[in-house]
Amino acid sequence: MTAFKYDFIVVGAGIFGTVVAEQLARNGKKILALEKRNHIAGNIYSYTDKSTGIEIHKYGSHIFHTESDVVWNYITNFGKFNDYIHTVDTRYNGKLYPMPINVDTINMLYGTDMTGEEAEKFLKSEAKKTGITDPKNFEEKGLSLVGEKLYTAFLKNYTKKQWDTNPKNLPADILSRIPVRFSHNNRYFITAKHQGIPENGYTKLVGNMLSSDLIDIKLNTNFCDVAQEIPKTATIIYCGQIDELFDYKFGVLPYRSLRFEMKKTNNSQGQAVINEADYDIKYTRTHDYKYYQIHQPDIVKQHGSILCREYPATYEKGGEAYYPINTPESEQLYQKYIKFAQKNYPNMIFGGRLGAYRYWDMDKAIEAALKLSGQLLSHAH
Ligand SMILES: Cc1cc2nc3c(=O)[nH]c(=O)nc-3n(C[C@H](O)[C@H](O)[C@H](O)COP(=O)(O)OP(=O)(O)OC[C@H]3O[C@@H](n4cnc5c(N)ncnc54)[C@H](O)[C@@H]3O)c2cc1C
Repeated sequence: MTAFKYDFIVVGAGIFGTVVAEQLARNGKKILALEKRNHIAGNIYSYTDKSTGIEIHKYGSHIFHTESDVVWNYITNFGKFNDYIHTVDTRYNGKLYPMPINVDTINMLYGTDMTGEEAEKFLKSEAKKTGITDPKNFEEKGLSLVGEKLYTAFLKNYTKKQWDTNPKNLPADILSRIPVRFSHNNRYFITAKHQGIPENGYTKLVGNMLSSDLIDIKLNTNFCDVAQEIPKTATIIYCGQIDELFDYKFGVLPYRSLRFEMKKTNNSQGQAVINEADYDIKYTRTHDYKYYQIHQPDIVKQHGSILCREYPATYEKGGEAYYPINTPESEQLYQKYIKFAQKNYPNMIFGGRLGAYRYWDMDKAIEAALKLSGQLLSHAH
């Protein structure tokens, strides 16, 4: 590998690495992008199922949403987005309820017909009934915020499935608030100024971003396997896992993982996402991707669909890392790796959700990548 002919090396062709590569190439820099998977786009990767025309999001539903005009104006340069607006229902005891909790959710669960003001007053009294004023764990916090009935229906078992532990064992501070709306608004992303799905799929969008002649992409290439061939002083934007890079020498950074089960069916579920709150149903969500294609009514209207069930799973070293488990201990471990990296790769910058060890929505990843590329370019001039 002739890495030295490049100005920058980007490890990972997910949305973060792609934005950095696109911005640097636009400014005349030559980029080598290494990607360990056999495809670009990272976790937002999607592909078209040939027999149905349904665009499958391989790593779970991805809905683009942002409050930022800058991010929206940037991303829409690379492909058209449709006008999809995300809504979610949660199934509890065989019945569907709007999620996040709004007045309708409360009325359906209690069999009432309250207005927003009445529901707000009512929930306060429900929360007070629990008698919890100084919550010590997730469960107590949930109860103190919305009362017993809503907590038990929508938070208790869902959380237990998601984290594979009793909510009493989870810290109170992971639940700063529960987004309860005292209105009928059922938009999932209520504050998003812009939202939608790329009409030609996420992979084409990312492909357009990487189309510059100044970007060379090598798929099926794990940086760890070719590190010897790359000068230690090269400027590397590293979007992979820092513990893997150093062969887990200080320990494994904790994550929660997921498993997806895809099935062609004769039934559609009627909307893109349904959450499952009951404990005996082991998956947390079902995705019916065709409902994202509102710009292709024939695909939405077709009989049957492809349903994808999402199961929470234990993460093991080398497996698919989805949600970082950010605790003071894991943060300390991450910082230990960062310090070690500074000695070994003086010009390596860690970015993206894996490199930064943070959960980021796509817009936040883009925002951070635009900021980083601006800094890199101002240093390079
Ligand atoms: C289940 C789920 C649903 C989500 N839904 C949404 C949503 O609806 N809306 C939203 O805005 N966001 C959503 N997100 C977040 C979104 O997935 C992230 O914002 C986005 O993927 C971040 O991109 P990234 O480039 O940082 O990371 P990634 O997409 O993970 O890209 C990193 C890339 O680096 C590669 N890589 C890693 N290590 C190496 C190595 N050593 N060598 C070479 N390549 C390497 C990986 O293969 C990967 O392709 C969701 C996340 C999850 C887990």
